Amino acid sequence: MNLFKRKTTEAAAPSNQSGLAEMALKYIHDGVIITDRSGVIQFVNPAAVAMLDCGSADKAVGLDYGLLIKLESKEGRELSEQENPLIQAMRTGQPLESHQACLIAGSSGKRIPIAISVLPVEGLAGNRIITLRNIAKELAEEGEQTEFISTASHEMRTPVATIDGYLSLALNPQTATIDERARQYLTAAHAASQHLGKLFQDLLDVTKLDDGKIRPNFIPIEMVGLVKTIADGYIVRARESKVNFRFGSEEASVLGAPHKMSQVVYGFVDTDFMREVLDNLLDNAFKYTPTGGSIYVNVRGDGDRVLINVTDTGMGISAEDLGHIFQKFYRADNSDTRTIGGTGLGLYLVKQRVEAMGGRVWAESAFGEGSTFFVSLPRLSSDEYEKRMIAVRNRAMQDQLINTPQTSQLVPQPTPAPQPAPAPQPAPQPIVQPAPPTPAQPPIQPVQSQINNVNGGT
Ligand code: ADP
Repeated sequence: MNLFKRKTTEAAAPSNQSGLAEMALKYIHDGVIITDRSGVIQFVNPAAVAMLDCGSADKAVGLDYGLLIKLESKEGRELSEQENPLIQAMRTGQPLESHQACLIAGSSGKRIPIAISVLPVEGLAGNRIITLRNIAKELAEEGEQTEFISTASHEMRTPVATIDGYLSLALNPQTATIDERARQYLTAAHAASQHLGKLFQDLLDVTKLDDGKIRPNFIPIEMVGLVKTIADGYIVRARESKVNFRFGSEEASVLGAPHKMSQVVYGFVDTDFMREVLDNLLDNAFKYTPTGGSIYVNVRGDGDRVLINVTDTGMGISAEDLGHIFQKFYRADNSDTRTIGGTGLGLYLVKQRVEAMGGRVWAESAFGEGSTFFVSLPRLSSDEYEKRMIAVRNRAMQDQLINTPQTSQLVPQPTPAPQPAPAPQPAPQPIVQPAPPTPAQPPIQPVQSQINNVNGGT
């Protein structure tokens, strides 16, 4: 054994507590930043210097944290001050635990997926300890799992559809002759194959966003019109299931908040996501509301948020279930829900899509009294809406210019011969085909009694 060498190594290691702490901060893979109460950086460890791409700790010390730690949502969406969890935690002195976001690194602008935490330290200086953990590897592993589920669901959908088709043929008296007992068995098999088909479709839908197959495509849009167009698609179903269905009912929601449906409310959303969100909420409202019940949908501006509610007078949700309904595969288990088909993925998808648009979803309900699902999304002022519309139009014009074949500017072109008028273009289709008008409905009674409240957020 080389005693001399061993001795020198040991001598180099710090022996006091502060020396050891310094060593840990120097070699740890997580970035650690310490600021004072007002957010001025006091300390940065080497891992944070590398992540923030700020050159050296000396350059960072004395700067405001906001100049160095720039975040986007994990889906790559710009965050307003209200939505930025770091700004909120620093401002309020509340702790922030392992929030997933995207760090925009210094001059390179490289995006690093991180889990960010803020720990306020008691004391006169009111220091804040910010930690940044690079989660690229974790996300890649999760992505592989998601990819597997998505591919498996996709592959399994086809044979399930074939089984479903043959079962339908077997059950159709015009294509097959079967006895009553066989009909019972096949009917049960048919219901199970349909459930399986829906499960694979839902799995595909929820994994699409996680594995990056889709990204939100934000557009500025007037929200009352958008929600109404989607809700209109349910008028026929309401008539068939003999449920009172109203858009913009003057009845307040269960919260009793006043609202004006004549309001013009602008949002910045992905219209496909909005359709998926409302389809799931409305589908549930119809599924869990018996004949003679009522469903109504409202949209209103609420400060800097757009607030949508889908309210029903159906079976309601117990306080115990209410805390779990936004989790994957969760289904309330009671004698009523057992007879109603479902996969337990609808509300998970709703939460996922709403959060990807910078929103929040939650429910208020009491068992046997009906439910209200609220979706709150960032709202645009008229000015912001106009600005974003101009940007959208400019981009569309640029795209058109790029896609239009250009002729050389240097060669004089002959005057073009008069062209026949262009063939008329089909009118743009509404987002949903408008359904026939609904007959006048009696006013809907708001849901009474004690209300349980649950936040759909994490
Ligand atoms: P499912 O496919 O089972 O409807 P969801 O994720 O859409 O899955 O909903 C989860 C559970 O929440 C449902 O199983 C049901 O118990 C409950 N739920 C959702 N919406 C309503 C509603 N409008 N009224 C009563 N219960 C509801």
